[in-house]
Amino acid sequence: MADCLFCSIVAGELPATVVREDDLTLAFRDLNPQAPTHVLVITKAHHPDVAELAATDPDGLTALHRTAAAVAADEGVDRSGWRLVFNTGADAGQSVPHVHGHVLGGRYLEWPPG
Ligand code: AMP
Repeated sequence: MADCLFCSIVAGELPATVVREDDLTLAFRDLNPQAPTHVLVITKAHHPDVAELAATDPDGLTALHRTAAAVAADEGVDRSGWRLVFNTGADAGQSVPHVHGHVLGGRYLEWPPG
């Protein structure tokens, strides 16, 4: 999609530190990490948010979760614990309108979040 930051990363037009990739998904490190592990997992196809992804592309939703779990294992946080966060909409602070799950781990993660 034109003028989409994460579509530009998928297209290779913007650099990113990619940690995992398959046919449907891409995982790369967040530019502003909030935890020792902070990786964004996206679908390569453009979807605005996780609700729209679930409604229109359940295979993509499953693939995104599978990649998130694989990233957690790669990062060595699968046993210590990790969190998958989808900020959805303005009140949740979603700043990039291309679905992305935040994989967070490597430290104790407060609950509820701030
Ligand atoms: P959200 O606020 O949930 O929409 O999350 C967007 C995330 O994207 C933020 O955590 C940003 O730090 C991150 N971000 C923005 N631009 C980039 C980029 N070019 N590469 C990696 N992460 C980015």
